[in-house]
Amino acid sequence: MNRNGHYGPYGGSYVAETLAQPLDELASAYFEAREDPSFRREFEELLRDYVGRESPITVCRRLSAALGGATIALKREDLNHTGAHKVNNTIGQALLARRMGKKRLIAETGAGMHGVATATVAALFGLPCEVYMGALDVERQAPNVERMKMLGAKINAVTEGSATLKDAMNEALRDWVTNCDDTFYVIGTAAGPHPYPEMVKDFQSVIGREARRQCLEKFGRLPDQAIACVGGGSNAIGLFAGFMDDPSVRLVGVEAGGRGIASGEHAASITGGRIGVLHGAKTMLLQTADGNVIDTYSVSAGLDYPGVGPEHCHLHDTGRAEYVPIDDAEAVAAFDALCRYEGIIPALESSHAVAEAIRRAPSLPKDALLLVCLSGRGDKDMESVRRYKNENENR
Ligand SMILES: *Cc1c(COP(=O)(O)O)cnc(C)c1O
Repeated sequence: MNRNGHYGPYGGSYVAETLAQPLDELASAYFEAREDPSFRREFEELLRDYVGRESPITVCRRLSAALGGATIALKREDLNHTGAHKVNNTIGQALLARRMGKKRLIAETGAGMHGVATATVAALFGLPCEVYMGALDVERQAPNVERMKMLGAKINAVTEGSATLKDAMNEALRDWVTNCDDTFYVIGTAAGPHPYPEMVKDFQSVIGREARRQCLEKFGRLPDQAIACVGGGSNAIGLFAGFMDDPSVRLVGVEAGGRGIASGEHAASITGGRIGVLHGAKTMLLQTADGNVIDTYSVSAGLDYPGVGPEHCHLHDTGRAEYVPIDDAEAVAAFDALCRYEGIIPALESSHAVAEAIRRAPSLPKDALLLVCLSGRGDKDMESVRRYKNENENR
């Protein structure tokens, strides 16, 4: 990566002239904060005392035995406060907002998980919070809308375009242009214009740092493969960060294959997309022949980001990481397997990563170790799983 946030041909900052200055201000403030021991200490204290870190590593004994190959182990981000990895990032950005003297947080959200994580830290820091959400998503994600309201956030339903995540991103950027003097824009994944991809990676890299040390302590060795689901790519880049300089560790990102890549109904931006500009950065994205952003589909709403973080595009091009799709049926089967073999109800997003481990384990030797990032818990997904099973039994 160079100083302007380019990863090969990806990343950078493709925004309206009026946002160049607030992004510069953000980058300077962040790079200064990152070097400040008191900023780092406060971040680490909150991760420990509020989020409940460190999160453990759990070996899937029964599941691994049933598959008869590699050992599968989970990095348990599902045990964090609020039930997923997203809060690692929102805490970091809220600390930075306070340091910069900003008085208001805004965010965009699709499935509502990032909205909830932002509303959570807004309450913790006593800052007002507004969340932009496509009107269609407001309907589809009613429980998370209730959670955000409970936590004191204001929801702005966006009716423009297809009334989904990409429209909410545009509206949030518009709000930020107008109010950047007093407002901090909290982006929820390792994407968007520079410096967001780098900043979000830094905040999420606690996942990989802990996991590397824990693997050495617990197994006396590094994993053979580190596997994570990829929406925008924040839990994956956080895990990968811990193993980037360990060439023996294969890095595997799992995209949402939805109803299959050939169906066109998926969210696999690297597998099925082309380079373009989204959310203020160059990225691989799902688009029509004439460059319109396509709405994504997945059984798991949290993987529905139509682009992907620029560093993942670059890791794909250089071959340091590989990216594969898992479709709805495989993800739901993995969801069931983790419930029944291990007593863990995973998020549907994370179930995609579990599914890829299940696919790889049987053909690997018994002493191989697959480390999966269990990015979140599945309590939120009961209704989606029930609906998926009903629809697919009636076929
Ligand atoms: C939002 C979410 C994801 C996808 O986001 P990334 O930025 O790709 O990590 C994955 N898992 C869970 C549980 C989520 O809530």
